[in-house]
Amino acid sequence: MRALNLQSTKLRSGKLRFGTGALLCGTLLCAGLLPGMAAAQITVLRHVTLIDGNGGAPRRNAALIVNGERIQAIADGDAPLLKEATSIDLTGKTIMPEIVNAHGHLGLLKGTKMSAANYTEDNIVRQLQQYQDYGVGAVLVMGTDRDTMYPWRAQSHAGTLPGALIYTAGRGFGVPEGVPPVSMGIDAVYRPATPEEARKDVQELAPHKPDVVKIWVDDFWGQYPKMKPEIYGAIIDEAHRHHLRVAAHIYHEEDAQKLVDLGVDILAHSVRDAEIPDSLVAEMKRKHVAYIGTMDLDEFMTAYEDDPAWLTDPFFRYALEPGVYEMITSPGYKQSIQNDKKTPAEVAALPIAFKNIKKVYDAGILVALGTDSGATPIRPFGFGEHRELQLLVKAGLTPLQAITLATKNSAELLRASGEFGVLRAGTKANFIVLDRDPSEDILNTESISSVWKNGKKVSDGPHPRSE
Ligand SMILES: [Zn+2]
Repeated sequence: MRALNLQSTKLRSGKLRFGTGALLCGTLLCAGLLPGMAAAQITVLRHVTLIDGNGGAPRRNAALIVNGERIQAIADGDAPLLKEATSIDLTGKTIMPEIVNAHGHLGLLKGTKMSAANYTEDNIVRQLQQYQDYGVGAVLVMGTDRDTMYPWRAQSHAGTLPGALIYTAGRGFGVPEGVPPVSMGIDAVYRPATPEEARKDVQELAPHKPDVVKIWVDDFWGQYPKMKPEIYGAIIDEAHRHHLRVAAHIYHEEDAQKLVDLGVDILAHSVRDAEIPDSLVAEMKRKHVAYIGTMDLDEFMTAYEDDPAWLTDPFFRYALEPGVYEMITSPGYKQSIQNDKKTPAEVAALPIAFKNIKKVYDAGILVALGTDSGATPIRPFGFGEHRELQLLVKAGLTPLQAITLATKNSAELLRASGEFGVLRAGTKANFIVLDRDPSEDILNTESISSVWKNGKKVSDGPHPRSE
């Protein structure tokens, strides 16, 4: 049968089970070998433009063959089908991998308020589902979690907690009376006063197997004491002894330099006060330091002084918590941005962030997508990730480069390559179906028709709130 022409699949044995034992597939189409046994769980999405996350040109008229939770093969859109397979014609549509947010925060925000009281399972599941509606399939929570997150993370990976997949830094490391401010609802972080205390805290954190360790190295423009190098040096060293990577909140080039010197693994925000010197870029590359831009947060900081183009767009409005639209469009809010002495520096930060992300990207450093969504009411879940894609293009990346950064690279940062982030035989069938092709215009990532997780459609995209 001609169906055997489909692209070969290398299914790792044990991944797919049909009745008894694992199935062995060689170069022939597995589906052709499964009459009556597994075809019922095969779905073929046909005649679609496919962006697989690897950065190559989109494949036109493709067929994505989904078997259970995983992709079985990618084939020609006109390949003959098994009788029992479910066929979905996606003529005119584009499929891309789910977006992965390598820097977010769960359970801090509700309405217009940040509070420790918002850290509930209900609120977190609601936020995970909002991410999912926007095509964000996984999130790394950067240091604002409590120990109750660990069982939720386990359930999330077992498939029993809905929405985006959870990765976590657990309880991060801040400064006594300093950053991150307790007033933001962030009251569970470690705040070691000495290097010895810092090591003990890492030893307490390590058995929970956080995906990374998060530290904050910032003084919020002189408002708070900044973490000293001897403290973060001890945290980094102790984390490495426990085979854990360290991600740092940073703002200033000087701090980035010291952190890289002391072995930090991930810079979790852009350097925004100066261009990163060539020597530091070279050191980052040599030491395999990854970089996350979170440029949307800098834009959101001052965007509502005027009315940004997206203000009335339903794609934005649906992402807002109740009360936030009224807040950001109020004269008082606009006035507070105008009156804030930090506003000129924040406006100046974005073009510097653009320059730096392009520079580290061009140097071949691993750059992942992160947004800091959920850390304040003005950084909405889902919208922030699409806005960050647009800002990556403004910074000089092509739409396909931006998409690869948000999918393959972010999955690599989470050490989840092979599970999601790219679409090929063997990976989870986690993807977004779009009405328009985002390789032509990055705004088209917003044209979400449906979102798929583990081989099943789980959302028709963003929708108005029911509350
Ligand atoms: Zn953050």
